[in-house]
Amino acid sequence: MTVRATARGAQRTSLDGERADVIVCGASFAGLAVARELARSGVDADVLVLDRYELGERATSACAIPTPWLAAMGVQDSRRQELPGMSFTTPHGRARYRLPWTWSSFDYRELCALLWAQCGTARFATAVVSGRTGDTVHTDRGDLTAPLVVDACGWKRVLGDPPLQPPEAPLSRGLEVHPHDAGGTDLDVYLERDLVRRGYGWSVPAAGERRVGALSYDPHDHVKEPTRSLAGRLDVEAVRYQGNWFPHRLRAATGGGAFFVGDSAGHCFPLSGEGIRTAFYFGIACGRELAAVVDGRQTRDAALAGYAAFHEAHRPAFRRAARLQRLIPALPPRLLALLLWSMNVQFLVDRAFGWYLRQAHPSFADRDGAPKQDPRAPDGRSSDHSLRRR
Ligand SMILES: Cc1cc2nc3c(=O)[nH]c(=O)nc-3n(C[C@H](O)[C@H](O)[C@H](O)COP(=O)(O)OP(=O)(O)OC[C@H]3O[C@@H](n4cnc5c(N)ncnc54)[C@H](O)[C@@H]3O)c2cc1C
Repeated sequence: MTVRATARGAQRTSLDGERADVIVCGASFAGLAVARELARSGVDADVLVLDRYELGERATSACAIPTPWLAAMGVQDSRRQELPGMSFTTPHGRARYRLPWTWSSFDYRELCALLWAQCGTARFATAVVSGRTGDTVHTDRGDLTAPLVVDACGWKRVLGDPPLQPPEAPLSRGLEVHPHDAGGTDLDVYLERDLVRRGYGWSVPAAGERRVGALSYDPHDHVKEPTRSLAGRLDVEAVRYQGNWFPHRLRAATGGGAFFVGDSAGHCFPLSGEGIRTAFYFGIACGRELAAVVDGRQTRDAALAGYAAFHEAHRPAFRRAARLQRLIPALPPRLLALLLWSMNVQFLVDRAFGWYLRQAHPSFADRDGAPKQDPRAPDGRSSDHSLRRR
């Protein structure tokens, strides 16, 4: 059960006039990766992280990630269950693959705490970000200023111009339930048009809990009924719902002098809808560019250009996945089943999933000689919800 810790009412004191070297809006996968990388780079930066909720308070996904990324980010302790295989069920059969790497499910709150513990002297405040004028970020707690501003607030792209609105925007939608259930060993994917017309269903075991849901690439299609239907089929309770929109097309990585990371930049990978590892990956890249500015090694404009070029270099892979996202739901179901079955040769599985992991490879977390720091003990949850400096 989610415990709400976000400051309300009189606890929401004014932050008006606060200044920092870097303001990171959004304290989930992308935002925490940026702040962590700034800390790891060793620069003396005053980093202020904002989120509408307390750290780790609202899980935003099924929290399944390629296992090597947990080690790469120093957050292995948040792991709930390692999933050695991946299965694909169609109306005409089921194929189970052994990937060259494994998936793991993790606990969102713990992962955020472990990331935050690596964010050095970064400060955190709860605030709802509503927009930006130049170096000033507007929030419900006042206007804050920094020469370097990051939008890691997710699909809405709140600092973008104009912010995105579903269902016309290129967004997918996902919904899942979190029943207590000890069943399942693999990451199971359901490719059945009767369940969801253009998308898929999933079941992610997480040691005593299961995350069962459905996503639609078409934002006009609802996913509540598919989610309930899959839960019924798997004989688990449809309880503890959570859902969100997420992008399936890259957007601009920069705009008006700000940096966009994670879902705000469209970094969620098309087809799979996997956006955690890519949020880490691009968050690290952004953090490195920002560190070089704080350190005086480059200008903000150079950092914006460098980050945008890095982002653009990934466009072909995102396009390729987007093409598959369009193609796979259009294939005759029998042909899809046949393809999945015929691909189940270890050499082909290794090749396909090796390519997939390489698009945001965990070794990137260690590149560029960034010094590794010992993760500090997770911060205790404070009842003082004003600005916290660690
Ligand atoms: C049901 C579902 C299941 C999914 N499962 C997986 C999965 O298993 N694996 C995977 O890799 N991907 C999964 N995804 C996709 C994944 O959740 C996203 O791609 C990922 O969360 C993107 O990370 P992010 O940090 O960019 O954005 P988010 O995780 O959306 O974080 C945005 C942060 O910004 C904060 N915020 C938003 N607006 C404001 C505001 N105005 N002011 C202040 N703060 C704000 C939010 O509170 C949040 O903390 C799933 C998506 C859905 C919908």
